[in-house]
Amino acid sequence: MKRIAVVTSGGDAPGINAAVRAIVRTAIDKGWESFGVRHGYSGLANDDVLPLGLRDVGGIIQRGGTMLGSKRYPEFKADETQLKAIRFLRQRDIDALIVIGGDGSQAGALALSQKGLPVVGIASTIDNDLCGSEITIGVDTALNVALEAIDRIKVTASSHERAFLVEVMGRNCGYLALISGIAGGAESIVLPETQSTPETIACELRAAYERGKAHAIVVVAEGACYNAESLTRYFEEHRERLGFELRVVKLGHVQRGGTPGVFDRLLATRFGAAATECIARDEFGVLVGLSKGDIATTPLIEVVGRKKTLDPHLLVLASVLAK
Ligand code: ADP
Repeated sequence: MKRIAVVTSGGDAPGINAAVRAIVRTAIDKGWESFGVRHGYSGLANDDVLPLGLRDVGGIIQRGGTMLGSKRYPEFKADETQLKAIRFLRQRDIDALIVIGGDGSQAGALALSQKGLPVVGIASTIDNDLCGSEITIGVDTALNVALEAIDRIKVTASSHERAFLVEVMGRNCGYLALISGIAGGAESIVLPETQSTPETIACELRAAYERGKAHAIVVVAEGACYNAESLTRYFEEHRERLGFELRVVKLGHVQRGGTPGVFDRLLATRFGAAATECIARDEFGVLVGLSKGDIATTPLIEVVGRKKTLDPHLLVLASVLAK
């Protein structure tokens, strides 16, 4: 008989609720008790915990966001806040904690683990910038939201012979921009990982115009050296060089709140079930993720603070296809 708790921390991602549901139901199937921590690490440090039974996680698998709430809580970087959280969990006789989140959340999980709390992490972030999992909860749904927007923008761009800058999320990682750019047939993709300048982008747009294209789509990662805002400023002064009229769309948080698709629901369900299995076999201080299509665990110490790189073959392919 064990008592386990789950916390969802950092940016919300479509599919988190499916993971919470799988954790609670697989735990109950083992005869354990489950608890949810509200509002991320803030709830952990303030003992904001509620019991979760079978019915509490009913009707949530199709909902984006997180039923437990999440909150940015930089105070959790302090040792004393982490120790306070561990004390509250011990007072409640909680045996183990599951942390669903991205790199920042897993840094918190590692700190708790190093202070003696049995912790298992689950890889969740729409940015896909977390090492230890080839894809994370929410990425697929966020990509489909971006793709639907790009497809629609292309229709109007063609009708009016316009170029569009479409800025997508991803923090300092260009994964969302690269994949939505390739799948959306973008003429140019601007990433934090590559060296596009306003001049090279202007040349790509001009070349597309001269090849007779009716539209041009530039997918820009929010973390790129030149984001949509700075590119717009540059192009306002060099309008005549482009050929096209230019418009800008920032997708922003629209990408986060999507209804999780089948891929994210299944991935999150598998991650949640795998996390309770880790607890059952006393495997702690690890992240549950996906490796070559299979569930895999990686020590948190090998995950936190490391930078995930983009597939160089996809980078080359993106530039070949943008013709
Ligand atoms: P994500 O988990 O999506 O990367 P954040 O980077 O915002 O999101 O981190 C989520 C939360 O994790 C932060 O609000 C903070 O409470 C906690 N956190 C982030 N970095 C650390 C750290 N170095 N040590 C302890 N806790 C951290």
